[in-house]
Amino acid sequence: MSDREKRTVVVTGGSRGIGRAICLSLAGRNTKVYFNYFSPADPAGEKAAADETESLIANFGGIAVGSSMNVMAEEEVALFFKNILAETGRIDVLVNNAGITRDKLLLRMKENEWDDVININLKGTFHCTKAAARTMMNQRQGRIINIASLSGVTGNIGQANYAASKAGIIGLTKTVAKELAQRGITVNAVAPGFIDTDMTAVLPDKVKEVMLSQIPLGRPGKPEDVAEAVAFLASEKSSYITGQVIHVNGGMYI
Ligand code: NAP
Repeated sequence: MSDREKRTVVVTGGSRGIGRAICLSLAGRNTKVYFNYFSPADPAGEKAAADETESLIANFGGIAVGSSMNVMAEEEVALFFKNILAETGRIDVLVNNAGITRDKLLLRMKENEWDDVININLKGTFHCTKAAARTMMNQRQGRIINIASLSGVTGNIGQANYAASKAGIIGLTKTVAKELAQRGITVNAVAPGFIDTDMTAVLPDKVKEVMLSQIPLGRPGKPEDVAEAVAFLASEKSSYITGQVIHVNGGMYI
């Protein structure tokens, strides 16, 4: 499709942090951004965060629509995509960004902490990818970008569940890239290192200090650092790149 035509972009977990920065980086006059959020513990707070993403994008003339949807629930995902397709008839870019942590050492980790992380991070990515793939295949065009993590490549103490989910996302990315390449769809992953968001704000100061000391560029990443890599992978400029993992980590992994 030409740049003048309307683009439909879907970002999971766009209410805050990296997802919001991705929504902002992909928004534009010819682009409608659909994103979701999901926080049953604080529905009012998360709705307010989603409203803020919408108005930040509206401020520069873009359109963003946020709605509540749990990526781990297949029926909710199906309805979310059905509604988008009813409005726009196409999906040009999918960014699987929604994710959580439930950090604990292996021997203390409960089954539900394992399941929650795998179900939201990995199964959620599977559900959304499947829901968007058919439309992209019919279009013979599309971009899928999955947000993995450095933990999924190197492992990280206290993150057996999270690292497994993100390593799974990398395997999923490579496989789907092979399956969909013939239909003109690229599938890549972005693996952030230590990024300044709500997710990392809760870490003890000691852990943050250790992380910082491991970053050659000497600062934590900003959500925008990740969003720029996603914007490149979502653009025409990356049309010959598929099945890759782009690391955004200030040199933490060289
Ligand atoms: P964040 O600030 O905690 O935001 C997480 C987003 O995911 C929120 O929009 C949240 O919605 C949404 N979400 C959570 N559970 C969901 C569910 N079940 N269904 C749908 N949406 C759900 O996290 P972040 O730091 O921006 O992280 C974004 C992604 O980057 C994640 O995949 C994370 O694993 C990855 N990552 C982050 C870092 C880092 O250092 N921050 C490093 C590597 C990778 P609500 O607002 O409704 O809660």
